[in-house]
Amino acid sequence: MNSALDPASDIDALVAEHVTKTFGETVAVRDVSFEVKRGEIVALLGPSGCGKSTTLRVIAGFERPDEGLVQINGETAVGPGVWRPPERRRVGIVPQDFALFPHLSVTENIAFGLADGHRAWWTRPWRRFRREATPARVSEMLELVGLREFGERYPHELSGGEAQRVALARALAPEPAAVLLDEPFSNLDQNLRASLRLAMRRILKAANTAAVFVTHDREEALSLADRVAVMREGRIEQIGAPDDIYYRPETRFIGSFVGDANILPATSVRYGAETELGFVILLNPSEGEDGRPLDVLLRPEQLALKDADRDDVEAARVINSEYYGHDQVVRVRLPSGLQVETRLRTEVVWQPDDPVQVVVLDDAIGFAR
Ligand code: ATP
Repeated sequence: MNSALDPASDIDALVAEHVTKTFGETVAVRDVSFEVKRGEIVALLGPSGCGKSTTLRVIAGFERPDEGLVQINGETAVGPGVWRPPERRRVGIVPQDFALFPHLSVTENIAFGLADGHRAWWTRPWRRFRREATPARVSEMLELVGLREFGERYPHELSGGEAQRVALARALAPEPAAVLLDEPFSNLDQNLRASLRLAMRRILKAANTAAVFVTHDREEALSLADRVAVMREGRIEQIGAPDDIYYRPETRFIGSFVGDANILPATSVRYGAETELGFVILLNPSEGEDGRPLDVLLRPEQLALKDADRDDVEAARVINSEYYGHDQVVRVRLPSGLQVETRLRTEVVWQPDDPVQVVVLDDAIGFAR
């Protein structure tokens, strides 16, 4: 499927190096560097205004960076003295609203990506081959996205999820080195999103192209991406595998942004920290020397509850619980007054005012205070 791509597998499909982009006084993207391998899916995750879309637009060629370099499939798309316009960058784009042409059928929408949208390719020697190959490629794409029977339909006859897949097929049809997706699920029904994520991941993996998608939804980033780049104020604060980002966040901001977090005041001791819940082993013990004040991060599912004696005035107490069937979220007030949140299985359903002991199940992360 990727016959037109450079066969050398050690080339990163996409490289951004020290990219900076300002708008007047605003530094939208600040010294951003990352690379994406062929077949890899990277999420740009962060709060509104952190520079995710601008990063994507610089890669696509819709914005010129003030500094830095973008390489696509080993060729410089923008860098010192080099500028390739968007249509010559070998990137496919899935816009936030999918931007399907309402007057064209699904087949014609996908074929568009092989012709008009990639005009520059016509000047290449394999132009004729591409044009002739269009119907076969469109069928291949329809098959890939699971819409074989949908070729004759028009956009208004598609569900949101189907429209998303057509947009993806159109982006993938010209065999781009990288596909860029801007908030690909934001226009879809909340209930649909989880199932569509899996379908999207399957399609991108089958296409074996590099993919970068922008989202402010942590679950979307963690479940769909191979690596997540968490952005804040124009910078990538951490990039790593989802479980690294989730369980080994490098900053307090990331810890809180990518998941629910209990932050407990603590004192550093050898290999760990002393907290109100007892001694906790730290995954990053070098954070502090003995006796230094720390904050320790524990996810709700890293805590468990045990019954305590009803007469024990020192016991923690359940404040409230939310029952979800598959699990429950139980908030507890510790003797100090500090509140923690636990996420538990439901064989015991906890009630307000139950006396409990909070048990730490895992090693934790500490942040110097
Ligand atoms: P959102 O999730 O809200 O889309 P984002 O993380 O994608 O946010 P960007 O759209 O990249 O953020 O914007 C980063 C910063 O740059 C913001 O402060 C924004 O106001 C500013 N910005 C983006 N585009 C422009 C522009 N064309 N002109 C001026 N400022 C801009």
